[in-house]
Amino acid sequence: MAGGKPANVRCVQLSADLRCAIFASGERPSCCSGLQASAAMCGEHREQALAYLERLERLTA
Ligand code: SF4
Repeated sequence: MAGGKPANVRCVQLSADLRCAIFASGERPSCCSGLQASAAMCGEHREQALAYLERLERLTA
């Protein structure tokens, strides 16, 4: 369980407009600040990004 929460649980720092509430504070966990997102990871829209993450979860379970 990386980042202090189980996978598929919404982060408490995620705002209603889907932004990180602590992005610029320096308090973001290293697993967040170290993530290098790629175009393939983000996709064209939210559903594609979520599908990518779900695939990662299956492959690393
Ligand atoms: S970047 Fe990290 S801390 Fe910020 S909302 Fe996303 S998971 Fe939460």
